[in-house]
Amino acid sequence: MTNDNFQKLISHFMKFPGIGSRQARRFVYHLLHQDEATNQDLASAIADLKQSINQCKQCFRFFSSRTEAPLCTICQDSNRDQRTLLLVEKDIDLENIHKTDTFTGLYFVLGGLVPILEKNPASRIRIKVLTDQLPERIKGGLQEVIIAVSANAEGDNTAEYLRETLGPFLAKAEVKISTLGRGLSTGTELEYSDRDTIRHALKNRE
Ligand SMILES: [Zn+2]
Repeated sequence: MTNDNFQKLISHFMKFPGIGSRQARRFVYHLLHQDEATNQDLASAIADLKQSINQCKQCFRFFSSRTEAPLCTICQDSNRDQRTLLLVEKDIDLENIHKTDTFTGLYFVLGGLVPILEKNPASRIRIKVLTDQLPERIKGGLQEVIIAVSANAEGDNTAEYLRETLGPFLAKAEVKISTLGRGLSTGTELEYSDRDTIRHALKNRE
């Protein structure tokens, strides 16, 4: 099939995480089989998505909001433990950890991982914003930064980079820096970890 819209949709779907050209084509054929109203509904949900969701100015997670609130409900919650800050790669990891109710502190979404041999790691994660936030967080009582990234090569590389970059500054302020315990076995994606695995990894952080 050669058609501009068809090709355009394929290239859009190919930008989705984990989607190759074959799957992208399957999605477009799926849309062709759906009725007009369902496709319209999908199109308008996509068009409106960003209008009903904000990105928190502090932890950078996306949250549902009809107002222009700058901070999400987690960052606004004064009952949460200000002494621990958990660094995650992406929103799905945060969500997965948050729903287990095993962590009571605050979060920060790094926005990615640092690939091995990356020449400019600072372009891959929100390290600058995080570094800028630290003095204020330390004043607020921060005692420990927990690196909670997936247990794979990129995750390890990211953890190493974070320790190198934040370590000296945090040490001076007597803030501990730790990594999730290897209850998360090698290759484990946080996104797919269950409650017990996450609780174990948090408890056995090192
Ligand atoms: Zn937040």
